[in-house]
Amino acid sequence: MARPAAVPYPWPVAEAWTSVESSPPVDLFDKCDSPRLMEYRMADAMGLNPYYREMASQSGPLVMLGDSPMIMLGSNNYLGLVGDERVKRAAIDAVERFGTGCTGSRLMNGTLSLHRELEDALADWMQVEACLVFSTGYAVNLGLLATLVGANDAVFLDAAGHASLIDGARMSAGAFRSFRHNLPSSLRHRLRTWHDRREVDGAALVAVDGIYSMEGDLAPLAGFAEVCNEFGARFLVDEAHALGVLGPDGRGAAAAAGVTPDLVMGTFSKALASCGGFLGGPKQVIDYLRISCRAMLFTAAGVPAAVGAALAAVRIAQSDGDRRALVLERSRQLHAGLAALDYQVGPEPQGPIVPVHIGEDWDAGRTWRNLLDHGVYTNCAVAPAVAPGRALLRTSVMATHSEEHIVQALRAFEEVRSTLD
Ligand code: PMP
Repeated sequence: MARPAAVPYPWPVAEAWTSVESSPPVDLFDKCDSPRLMEYRMADAMGLNPYYREMASQSGPLVMLGDSPMIMLGSNNYLGLVGDERVKRAAIDAVERFGTGCTGSRLMNGTLSLHRELEDALADWMQVEACLVFSTGYAVNLGLLATLVGANDAVFLDAAGHASLIDGARMSAGAFRSFRHNLPSSLRHRLRTWHDRREVDGAALVAVDGIYSMEGDLAPLAGFAEVCNEFGARFLVDEAHALGVLGPDGRGAAAAAGVTPDLVMGTFSKALASCGGFLGGPKQVIDYLRISCRAMLFTAAGVPAAVGAALAAVRIAQSDGDRRALVLERSRQLHAGLAALDYQVGPEPQGPIVPVHIGEDWDAGRTWRNLLDHGVYTNCAVAPAVAPGRALLRTSVMATHSEEHIVQALRAFEEVRSTLD
């Protein structure tokens, strides 16, 4: 099976995120009559719709999809803490102490001692001066870019950067430039051009993912940090997929690379088995955002159960090196097995994600369904989550997958393999 050809750069990320309609709408709702929705419904009718599937159990190495048990290779529960008794207990204790919701923003009435405790624990873990806890990771990126990048400033994003970074860049008043995926030389070129051509002084922020969410590749953080230094640009690393999994004490990709970015963001929705996110950095910046970031000021505080669970998960993630080692062992086992079956899986994984490159959207949908019928749940990624024509099945492992779970999953991939040529 040949790997799909690379799509010429830049692929149209920005366009793909908006609905592109050929004729101007007469009514606001006309755009909902879209080819994309038609395709979605068609996939649904054909049993090929991989989205909004309803799980009937918690996310573990096995899940129930309706009445059928599945090997779960489509979850971000990397450390397997979603079902951990200590994490569940912490969530229940938080509910018993603080109730079910905060009924207000962090600013006004929603800050609990638990939020501050989590911020302190995160700052200690990430070795930063201060942290600010948000209700989602998405809100962190949106709020921070929209607040810090002013009219004369510019934000530079990797072309494969997460949607939340793209959306934050678009919400900011500054310029938005993207550079070629994982290429520090491309960033250098973009920064130099912006510097040479700008008419007024402004500052630059560079943002990259530590591990890319779909293809699972690691960013060359040392190279990017060097370019940022050359131009006096501030550097943000999104550690969503590396937190708890890579680096000393599970601090993430930057720590693994020996790099200290100016800002680091993370989410609780993956290895930390909860919901919410945080930004870490200098106290001055965090305090400023605390009083001026709209994605913090004008939304409700993270609920007690989520904050309590995240705090317990931080403590486990920080101290349990065995879990980190298991994640890598399992992802390498899966990768080696898939490669032996002639699936296009790219280089050996450095983290929990193993992409299986398929190519066309419908082929990916059919393969996804075939695997489901063989008891394996994967994530089907099509544009705009990946470049057009580069649809893939995103598989990821957990520390709680056994060797046998992966062997069983590989058996299913083997049976499905014959349908792909
Ligand atoms: N950054 C990256 C790289 C992500 O993958 C995600 C979630 N998919 C986010 C940020 C947003 O995090 P959350 O799910 O907590 O909103």
